[in-house]
Amino acid sequence: MAGILFIISAPSGSGKSTLVNEVRKQLTGIEFSVSWTTRPPRGSEQHGREYNFTTREEFERMLAAGEFLEHAEVFGNYYGTARSSLEQARDEGHDLMLDIDVQGAAQVRAKMPEAVSIFVMPPNPQVLRTRLRNRSRAEGVQDGAEVMRRLNAARKEIENYREYGYILVNDILDRAVAQLEAIVLTERFYRNDEPIAFRADRVLEVAATCLLANSQERLGPVLEAFRIGYPGQQELPFEEDSDDD
Ligand code: ADP
Ligand code: 5GP
Repeated sequence: MAGILFIISAPSGSGKSTLVNEVRKQLTGIEFSVSWTTRPPRGSEQHGREYNFTTREEFERMLAAGEFLEHAEVFGNYYGTARSSLEQARDEGHDLMLDIDVQGAAQVRAKMPEAVSIFVMPPNPQVLRTRLRNRSRAEGVQDGAEVMRRLNAARKEIENYREYGYILVNDILDRAVAQLEAIVLTERFYRNDEPIAFRADRVLEVAATCLLANSQERLGPVLEAFRIGYPGQQELPFEEDSDDD
């Protein structure tokens, strides 16, 4: 049985790693690709677990040797998915989940249009700012300018939401985890005839509500909060990264 390729993208700080880690605990038969990056490790990150950390020189060598399925430059660092991750999952008949940015997702979709793509959004910029700050504090870093940079980048990334098949708004974590699981189980059901062991009707219904086509109502307030669809507005309405909330 062919494995399914899942692509998950989200603005930094939306909670994608948290979500993926939760789903990892619950589901079997799915591999999570460990990307290569030239950014330094953050907090408790370990080489080979969150990322394969490498130098720019080594990354460029791998790129020239055609070792990447996709790659992108994000916040001044290279990130890439090794072709070997995909090959290994294929050989083992496992599903594979790629946690990649919107540029990488477009490259993979062009090569593999059958991939299932999922976009995770934070509910609004205020929540995103709080999550970015909390994460920085937990990692012992305080960089207000970096938080602002990521907030403004978030808006640009969210503008690409229409390119994804499913949309998750990560407001309440448990609900978003259940939605992500439902998407995986539903795709396995439709593509590979895999039965859903528990409350199948509910699982299919939850996944259906996350389809892009069914997401307009949930998305409206998020797009408005991020000022998406306001042509003149290039920056989010934060004066500076003050600690006022
Ligand atoms: P990403 O992988 O998208 O960059 P993280 O998973 O590192 O984001 O999450 C950013 C921060 O937000 C972390 O401190 C995490 O614990 C927190 N977080 C994630 N999801 C939620 C949620 N639904 N509610 C509250 N906090 C969350
Ligand atoms: P972070 O540095 O916060 O872990 O990740 C920054 C961004 O890089 C996130 O949007 C994340 O999805 C993206 N990213 C991580 N790995 C890859 C990858 O292999 N390829 C691409 N294109 N983006 C990646």
